[in-house]
Amino acid sequence: MKSIVIHAAKDLRIEDRDVAAPGPGEVQIKLATGGICGSDLHYFNHGGFGPVRLKEPMILGHEVSGHITALGEGVTGLSIGQLVAVSPSRPCGNCRYCHEGRYNQCLNMRFYGSAMPFPHIQGAFRQVLVADAAQCAPADGLTPGEAAMAEPLAVCLHATRRAGGMMGKSVLVTGCGPIGILCILAARRAGADLVVATDLSEFTLSKAREAGADVTLNMSKDAEALDRFTPEKGTFDILYECSGAAPALSAGISAMRPGGTILQLGLGGDMNLPMMAITAKELSLKGSFRFHAEFFTAVSLMQKGLVDVKPFITQTFPLKESLAAFEMAGNRNQAVKAQIEFA
Ligand SMILES: [Zn+2]
Ligand SMILES: [Zn+2]
Repeated sequence: MKSIVIHAAKDLRIEDRDVAAPGPGEVQIKLATGGICGSDLHYFNHGGFGPVRLKEPMILGHEVSGHITALGEGVTGLSIGQLVAVSPSRPCGNCRYCHEGRYNQCLNMRFYGSAMPFPHIQGAFRQVLVADAAQCAPADGLTPGEAAMAEPLAVCLHATRRAGGMMGKSVLVTGCGPIGILCILAARRAGADLVVATDLSEFTLSKAREAGADVTLNMSKDAEALDRFTPEKGTFDILYECSGAAPALSAGISAMRPGGTILQLGLGGDMNLPMMAITAKELSLKGSFRFHAEFFTAVSLMQKGLVDVKPFITQTFPLKESLAAFEMAGNRNQAVKAQIEFA
């Protein structure tokens, strides 16, 4: 079976790997679709991000769906041929944070396609994947492409949970890549009133409007575009910072109203903070990292038609054109989410 392996920046290879049989409690999955994520792109473009560097070849990918081809001993509730979304979150269940229910903070996390630990955790971009049955969310009624969107949607549902109450709130989203777009959908679903989105690309802002943003602002054309939201100490109760860029965070903070909550999702390295404004406006600054239980909620919301991710799957490439897929995934003038078909 073929897999997509990153060896170093810009050195992406399609390689043969052995097929494994499912052990007790596991299932074998014929992969259907894999979405390319920002972290996959960091490995592809730069060989890592921040202190996280590739030290050995690694199979990429963690946004995947597929059809079950074999059930291991003791597996119930799943059937052969069924479409499943596969959660890449694999906490140990035994460490102090798992015992607290903070699974995304697990000390022994084996998140697919991550070079954070060494040896690296191999990813899910492979034609045949063996996974724990507990990682699989039945995705009946969804397309494989939608099912593969469960992972980034879960990231945004987790951030929305951390935001606290959303009903009637004014929300700013800075950075409208896939995560920003899905945060708009999540905030809308949770009852946000005003939703304003910023980015540097007209294409992504048009997709932000499609996702339900009331106002979109192109900060490359007018760096002061948020000024209309700064009178009387600011407008926004909640900021989803999805760009990882310091200027976006600073501009966003200036438009936050006192007592507001900043959710930092973007990972662009360390940045300077306008600490005077954070302190004086009594803002809450919250990190938001991955997800756990929200993965199953993401699948369920899509199945019920409460969140529609289809307009944001902008390109689908066959496996043999993986390189083109990775190049397109980083193109903010044409792509929101680019996916690869493994069938
Ligand atoms: Zn992802
Ligand atoms: Zn753990």
